[in-house]
Amino acid sequence: MGIGKLILVDLDTIETSNLSRQMLFRPGDEGRPKAEVAAERLKEMNPYLDIDFFFEKLQKLPMSVYEESDVVVAALDNFNARLDLNKICLRMKKPMVEGGTVGFEGHVQIVIPEGTGLRYKNKKNEIENLVEARLWEITDTEYPDYYRAQREIELLEEEIERIKNARINPIVNKIHREIELVFDWKYAPELLDQTPCYRCLVPIPPADDKLVAACTLKGLPRNRNHCVIKAEVEFEKKYGHKPDLNLNDEVLKLKEIAQIELEKLRERVFDENVPLEERDSLTKEQIEDWKKNIRETFGSDYKFEEIENILGNKIAAIQTVSSVIASVQSQEALKLLFRVNGRNIGAPMDPPYVNYNGIYGQFDHLNILKSDDCLACGKIEGEENVQIVVPFDANVGYIFEAMEISGHVLDSELWMITDPMTKEIYWNPYMPSLKDPDVKLTSLKIKSNDIITLSPLGKALAESEIKKFNVVIAFM
Ligand SMILES: [Zn+2]
Repeated sequence: MGIGKLILVDLDTIETSNLSRQMLFRPGDEGRPKAEVAAERLKEMNPYLDIDFFFEKLQKLPMSVYEESDVVVAALDNFNARLDLNKICLRMKKPMVEGGTVGFEGHVQIVIPEGTGLRYKNKKNEIENLVEARLWEITDTEYPDYYRAQREIELLEEEIERIKNARINPIVNKIHREIELVFDWKYAPELLDQTPCYRCLVPIPPADDKLVAACTLKGLPRNRNHCVIKAEVEFEKKYGHKPDLNLNDEVLKLKEIAQIELEKLRERVFDENVPLEERDSLTKEQIEDWKKNIRETFGSDYKFEEIENILGNKIAAIQTVSSVIASVQSQEALKLLFRVNGRNIGAPMDPPYVNYNGIYGQFDHLNILKSDDCLACGKIEGEENVQIVVPFDANVGYIFEAMEISGHVLDSELWMITDPMTKEIYWNPYMPSLKDPDVKLTSLKIKSNDIITLSPLGKALAESEIKKFNVVIAFM
């Protein structure tokens, strides 16, 4: 991660009770200094890390240790130590990240002392804060009209309140009483005892890269990820093996091919949007504008890391975020475990979905809804939604291929394909006239994002758990 050097300071020794909450300690470490053992274990995990440790009070450390540090992390268990460290950091002008937990509560406080030179706060927000503070201070004599306007607003608010009380609230209260009367038998079982399921949030699982890769030889890339996937296929054709992402040379070659595909994609989109016959009527600037727009839509030229990321899925996992999420999961598991066993140590989180944003350090609870037509927990049974990716010139036979790649092996002799809206039959294995796998989807007027239905016949009808596939077609 580029941290380089860690200095661990602790004056405690390991006790048995520490083993369950500090992953760096193991049975057998009891009695040894925490800082020493932690340094040892971290060094095992990453031998390139430079680690010093002090089995010492933080107040007794030589000031040179603080001087050498860029950031101080406080993970202390008492006020006095925190206050002392705070004082030292202020004096040494070192930013401090203080944190602590009590039961299910946790806090993190960032302390930036004056004179660190760190531009920490947002200028615009600070100006707003000063304006806000100044507004509280102004007097009636200074800005009389400001006060008059405030008074008018108050009167309007009183009026709104009066209308609510007289005409809105009585109706709300009546409906409230009606719902309360029937809640226990009508709503409680559904609302109090269950949550939406995972599938409720993913009605149509998006087609994955396997499908894109499979049709990429014939298909036309539609976005920059497709271009890289296509480049991988082209690379293999040209060099006889898949590119090795550990070899810079091969990634560079791949980048070149992807760049060509990206340029072809830009040109294609330009041609589609600005037909030849219209081009003469456009000024040079208008044409440049189009090109600039297209460039912005599909992104700038490829960078080395992007190629690695798209193909290798190498987007670095941030261990701290994993830890936050793992912690929240563990905490929910703990509450549920107790609850399942008849004890209440706290309610499971409600709404049952939390999003943590490590950039803003923010948790947002999202109110997710149970879906009545959810294919996993809803009332519909025997259906499945699938998205498939097909080349622009795909034929009916390719639908069965694409279904197979997405994990649904269907016998084309036993499944029928129809348009769910018009009921038109695209494929019926029992009818020779509707059994031509070479018919192009475009000639059937199927467009990108159209939905087709696959239903079982005969033996498949008896044996398949799924009686209907709703298939979203994405052309590439
Ligand atoms: Zn569901």
